[in-house]
Amino acid sequence: MSKQLYDLGEQPPLGEVPEKMHAWLIRADRFGKPMDAFQKEVVNTPSIGDDEVLVYVMAAGINYNNVWAAMGIPVNVIAARNKTGEPEDFHIGGSDASGIVYKVGKDVTNVKVGDEVVMHCGTWDRNCQWVKKGGDPMYSPSFKIWGYETNFGSFAQFTRVQGQQCMPKPKHMNWEEAAAYTLVAATAWRMLHGWGASSIKKDDVALIWGGAGGLGSMAIQIVKAAGATSVAMVSGEDKFDYCMKLGAKGCINRNDFDHWGMLPHWKDGAGYAKWLKGVRSFGAKIWEVLGEKRAPNLVFEHPGETTIPTSIFVCETGGMVVVCAGTTGYNATVDLRYLWMRQKRLQGSHFANSVQSNEMNQLALRGQLDPCLSRAFTYEELPVAHQLMGDNKHPHGNMAVLIGAKEFGLGASGKPAVAMVHPTLPKGDVHTTPHPYPMSEPLPSIEEAEALTITDDGSKVRDLMHAGIISCTPGDTVGTVAKIMVDKEIHAVVVMEGGKAVGVVSQTDMVLARQGRTSDQARSMLAGQIMTPGCATCDADMLLSDAVSLMTGRRMHRLVVTEKDQPVGVISMTDVVRKIIGE
Ligand code: NAP
Repeated sequence: MSKQLYDLGEQPPLGEVPEKMHAWLIRADRFGKPMDAFQKEVVNTPSIGDDEVLVYVMAAGINYNNVWAAMGIPVNVIAARNKTGEPEDFHIGGSDASGIVYKVGKDVTNVKVGDEVVMHCGTWDRNCQWVKKGGDPMYSPSFKIWGYETNFGSFAQFTRVQGQQCMPKPKHMNWEEAAAYTLVAATAWRMLHGWGASSIKKDDVALIWGGAGGLGSMAIQIVKAAGATSVAMVSGEDKFDYCMKLGAKGCINRNDFDHWGMLPHWKDGAGYAKWLKGVRSFGAKIWEVLGEKRAPNLVFEHPGETTIPTSIFVCETGGMVVVCAGTTGYNATVDLRYLWMRQKRLQGSHFANSVQSNEMNQLALRGQLDPCLSRAFTYEELPVAHQLMGDNKHPHGNMAVLIGAKEFGLGASGKPAVAMVHPTLPKGDVHTTPHPYPMSEPLPSIEEAEALTITDDGSKVRDLMHAGIISCTPGDTVGTVAKIMVDKEIHAVVVMEGGKAVGVVSQTDMVLARQGRTSDQARSMLAGQIMTPGCATCDADMLLSDAVSLMTGRRMHRLVVTEKDQPVGVISMTDVVRKIIGE
């Protein structure tokens, strides 16, 4: 008679599925630090559907999504599934794995019991009309990440996956290596190969951000396999060797430059010129690394806010910046002149479909893709691995944890067609970008049913505004406007023409007018030339919180207040700050 439950590392006879299994579970009542949220439990082994497969997990990959799942933010994945009718009050995470097929549904044709497999994490409803009509499953409304949005991921003796997720395990890799690469490598594959004419081609040049990181290390190898050249970005020269061994032509230390961050305002002549100087010297460094004056045809992006302006600037005319995350922030600024005049493309990308995952896996099977495993953990250490990630103390590269495999280093049974170098990361290499803000935080669903509660004390604009308008005309000189500001001790002057407010000259506009000009040149300019046109207004009865959103959304410090469409006063950020401190 078969056993009801097997110990960890005690592999059941092939094809024999015990009733129960060991697993690391997250439950809602312990959402929080990964060290506390993950607990070992014994649960029923899941049943499978006709298109599904039950895999005995040998090792599982660690990804950031299950740090979010453990914390229960921004989405409670358990509650989200319960809403759709799934009964389990727990989450078994894990979106990367290697293992052995133990059971297949009747419609599964690509794998059989006993096959050694790795799994990609893309799932979708096979009855989805979009997918049935041949649409990319990545755009299907039913698309879900296995082991994050779905239950019964790889942090258990058995995992439930769709047949289409299974791909052959590279024989030359041990279990933990094979469990480490699929999520990042498939993501990098779609970014590089998924965008038609803009995809990477032989002899192209690619600029790879975070070349020593999980995605970047995969991207360098995929670019090399395509016969193209890559330049890797890193934060220290100690990582140059690692990236070059993976196949980069050369590397750039991002700490040698300081023009990062959001673009200076286009009216800021001096600031913009300084930024241009920085970004041009960065472009020249790319030429130096390449040994020729060429711009990257493709820029592989994920830092986001601090690097997008540079990525778009240095990208070749007609080239593509492809982005899958905003690790440093989400408000990417773009100088549209470079985007449209040089006809560049800013392309979003997310994970990969099964065709792309399998194309990527061919590289791994041939030995052309090192999994870049930076650290492997025992089963007991699974929460530690997630805690390190949550605390930003984990190494770069990819991490895995043993599940069914008894020891490290087991499972390799062959030689790759192509011999690999195994580069190693410099000792002590950890993340330096401040954390937890914001990694690529999963988006809350648009369909989220819970109503959002916003606290508001009901203050109106009229409660705080300054009544009366201090104005000038478009023909007044900047010198005149400056005098009005100083005499009246105000920060902005409304520009009136024909009884209507047509713009505002703020202190910022005055300072920007002075940037890159002499005082005399600045003073003789006209209010109409330097004002912020269009005059953002709000009604005196508008909620103060709405007025603040209007100001921050437009990067403004004040609004002209109107009543019956007539300007009656001004509300400024200074007024709001005064309210905060209770003046
Ligand atoms: P990772 O291993 O932490 O690597 C990120 C790299 O970015 C680091 O190697 C770091 O290298 C570099 N970096 C950090 N701060 C930077 C900054 N301010 N400017 C420029 N580069 C900076 O992470 P990963 O696995 O490659 O993932 C990167 C991002 O993509 C994460 O936010 C992840 O959540 C997301 N992701 C998205 C998908 C998707 O399908 N959408 C899939 C996988 C990952 P240096 O310090 O050496 O420069």
